[in-house]
Amino acid sequence: MKCAVCEIGNLAEVHDLAAELEGYIFIIKGKRCLSCGEEFIDEKEGQQMITIAKRLGVWGDPLKLHRKLSKSARGTVLRIPSDLEKDFGLKGTEEVAISKLGEKKFMVEIE
Ligand SMILES: [Zn+2]
Repeated sequence: MKCAVCEIGNLAEVHDLAAELEGYIFIIKGKRCLSCGEEFIDEKEGQQMITIAKRLGVWGDPLKLHRKLSKSARGTVLRIPSDLEKDFGLKGTEEVAISKLGEKKFMVEIE
């Protein structure tokens, strides 16, 4: 399996990815590119992290889930976490409004 970011490196299974969620650091499984060092969180692990965060009561507003953007031929892609998808009942065909809130922040509203 090749890295989706640099497209040259092979991915190695790692067990020491640090993911931050609401100020809590979770050490989870995933993959790391041997070439560029990009880290990919295992989808199941990510879901489990959310489950744990909910149990700890740290999953709330403002929700901060760290995601990596990815590149597609048509631009930059941000995947919506499946928990949010369920919460909002997203079908993937909705129109959204994107507002810039600052230098490093934007908001997505479902219309
Ligand atoms: Zn890479």
